[in-house]
Amino acid sequence: MKYPVVKNYINGELTSSSNGTLDVYSPLDGLIISQVTISSASELDKAVQSARKAFKSWSEIPIKERVQVFFKYRNLLEEHTDELTNLVSEENGKTYSEAKAEVLKSIELTEFACAMPQLVSGEILEVSKGVECRIEKYPVGVIASITPFNFPNMVPNWTIPNALVLGNTMILKPSEQVPLSANRLAELLKEAGLPNGVLNIVHGQKEMVEAICDHPGIDGVTFVGSTKVAKIVYMRATSKLKRAVCLGGAKNHLIVLPDANVEMTASNVAASMSGCAGQRCMAASAMVGVGAVNHIIKKLCEEAKKIIPGENLGAVISKAAKERIENYITEAEKQGAKILVDGRGAIVKGKEKGFYVGPTVIDFVKPEMKIAKEEVFGPVLSIMRTETIDEALEIENNSQYGNAASIFTQSGGASKYVAEKASAGMIGVNIGVPVPREPFGGWNESKFGVGDITGKSSIEFLTKPKKITTKWDHESKTNWMS
Ligand code: NAD
Repeated sequence: MKYPVVKNYINGELTSSSNGTLDVYSPLDGLIISQVTISSASELDKAVQSARKAFKSWSEIPIKERVQVFFKYRNLLEEHTDELTNLVSEENGKTYSEAKAEVLKSIELTEFACAMPQLVSGEILEVSKGVECRIEKYPVGVIASITPFNFPNMVPNWTIPNALVLGNTMILKPSEQVPLSANRLAELLKEAGLPNGVLNIVHGQKEMVEAICDHPGIDGVTFVGSTKVAKIVYMRATSKLKRAVCLGGAKNHLIVLPDANVEMTASNVAASMSGCAGQRCMAASAMVGVGAVNHIIKKLCEEAKKIIPGENLGAVISKAAKERIENYITEAEKQGAKILVDGRGAIVKGKEKGFYVGPTVIDFVKPEMKIAKEEVFGPVLSIMRTETIDEALEIENNSQYGNAASIFTQSGGASKYVAEKASAGMIGVNIGVPVPREPFGGWNESKFGVGDITGKSSIEFLTKPKKITTKWDHESKTNWMS
């Protein structure tokens, strides 16, 4: 094993569990690189107690001082970019450049949090003559963050910097498939000066997530993962009277019109469906070609064939994921779809046990097919054909998901129409992966809860407003309170 067992991180200390461990694989070569502790309910309880105790002092430190830790953390992320990038690539399977983009995004997210003292300002409103209401924002308490496998460094940083700068303390439960980056982030935060107990990490799977939802000492939960689990977590956490924002899966549609720039569209669509091996919640999963788009599809296939597993295409997360993705392709083929580029059975020389699926382009997919409706989460593009933009929008609107949607065209009018009518939280115009600046979040079953997970929107989630109404009348002998 290359790395020692990944332990709990409670009150600034790494602790083992007698609850057992799970193997951690590198998808790049399919070998075991580490093991991760399965934390117990009592260890979660210790982590929560530690976070509650730390909350008392951390929340009372002025925000201008709390933010200093994050200036240092931001610089440490930059200083350790290469090391963090390699760790992400190793445990997740993405290419070095994709992993580096993720670490750079974590730096950007931390920079946002560093601006928090300016962004979190309250309001003063007049109640009546001489009476004013001052609205101040207070931290919520202990926030738990449950994260997925596909961005081991970035998704924890969607919540950690903002939540902590705002005075909360935290429990992080990373994906058991990629636990190494999370523990490394905790080390860097400690080096940056974060007091013990402000961030705690527990590991595990379903049982640990359920224990987090149920624990009375946790005030709020952010979750990022599949829609199936997002629903469970949202319902369970809110039924225990916690606030929750839970981001789920995606099925992102790219609507392509015949007038779209051929080279740009083909390369954007190919990069969108295959980047991070298709394991991005922003990945293009379905393309809807409107009218005569064969020339674009031809070029798209040429671009897809330039994407080579083990070179500019990383691995998918597990053997099970590879099998699941290949089964989707086979089933679509059996139902009459046409495989234009086939990524099944991909093997990388020297890494024969790695979990690779090559880029796959499937034409003449019908909206009622399983592959058109479900999240495949691999480097697979399903192409559907329609005659009109409205038919394309109908397909997009009928999706249970609503994370992202894009339109490729030279027409401003058509792009405006699609941007208005698409039922998704993040829209791209001539962009395959329309990741916005903060805030980040989708619609429909791609997100449960009010507000987005990052950006200014997260401030509402991570704080409680206090309304202080005052009257100071210098002419009166007594004031309103007396
Ligand atoms: P997942 O839902 O399997 O796991 C997410 C987290 O939930 C992990 O920490 C895992 O340990 C835990 N978990 C798994 N099964 C559980 C269960 N039955 N009960 C309670 N907890 C459980 O997701 P994943 O496979 O790690 O990540 C991929 C998914 O995440 C995709 O669906 C992707 O679209 C989604 N995702 C969404 C966004 C977004 O912004 N909407 C961002 C990243 C990833």
